[in-house]
Amino acid sequence: MHLTVPLLINPKAGSLFRSGLKAWLDEHRDDFTLVPTRSAEDLTARARELAEAGEPVIAAAGGDGTLMNAAQGLVGTNAALGILPCGTMNVFSRELGIGSRRFDVALDAIKNGARQEVDIFTVNDRPFLQMAGFGPDASIVKLITPKLKRNMGAAAHIVTGLKVAVRHHPVITITLPDGTEMQGTQIIMGNGKRYGGEAHLFANARYDDGKLDAAIIYQESMPILFEILGCMLQRGATSSNVSQFTNLCTFESCEISSEGTVDYQLDGDYAGTLHPGETATIRRLPQRLRVCIPRTPIPTTPIGRLMAHPMVDAWRTFLRRAQDF
Ligand SMILES: [Mg+2]
Repeated sequence: MHLTVPLLINPKAGSLFRSGLKAWLDEHRDDFTLVPTRSAEDLTARARELAEAGEPVIAAAGGDGTLMNAAQGLVGTNAALGILPCGTMNVFSRELGIGSRRFDVALDAIKNGARQEVDIFTVNDRPFLQMAGFGPDASIVKLITPKLKRNMGAAAHIVTGLKVAVRHHPVITITLPDGTEMQGTQIIMGNGKRYGGEAHLFANARYDDGKLDAAIIYQESMPILFEILGCMLQRGATSSNVSQFTNLCTFESCEISSEGTVDYQLDGDYAGTLHPGETATIRRLPQRLRVCIPRTPIPTTPIGRLMAHPMVDAWRTFLRRAQDF
């Protein structure tokens, strides 16, 4: 029996064309039934409807943000999410071994792959798939304009990062369920190992262990970025390779507060601002999300991973253009 999978897409998304997915889909018409959606809410609603109608697999095309919208409709149902990763970073897709813009791998995962249950965590009841950040990393994504992102791709993060780095960063407090308190100027939580593209921030994180991994970095401005880079260059932080400025911990829930005003991001998108006196609650959803993963994750070498990183790629393009000037 030929399996036709419903595919949720935003027909107007530029990434559909930029990533080459549109052309690929033209060659795989028989595998999918396209389900056009009008908005993030519409996409979530359609995902839920299809799951309730008994579809075993519901695919979504997009970056981490779009996948999250689909996941919100599917969490707790029997339907598995099929991922066609056509965004800029595609961190969740890489985490699951599907890679970025590897549509043949994605299709194989849907048709012949395994089904995996994945934890979903929320910040103030808003779910995220891969990571959450409180502090300068959120201020960076808040400042990135769509125009800058269009022109520079992932390199926009670096340019904006330099702008944010010169600011003062308030102290953020994280409180664990047992009352333990830790303080930092940047807190990053990961459901999996990856933070941006292929870059690993948490060496030992798993998306199915019921826990979030967190790095609490206590540094001034620029050194925060060096701390993050340091963790990435070591293929992820462990308790034995982090500097004295970074604390690592894992938890099922926690609370975050700050003496100052702190931005936060979910899956690389600006999600909100925490003001003094306010608390953000991080929790795990009781239900998990089923996803389609390949039987064998796509193999990549460490250097291949580095060179394939969208930031490295964007910088190369940027430098090439600058040379042409
Ligand atoms: Mg985990």
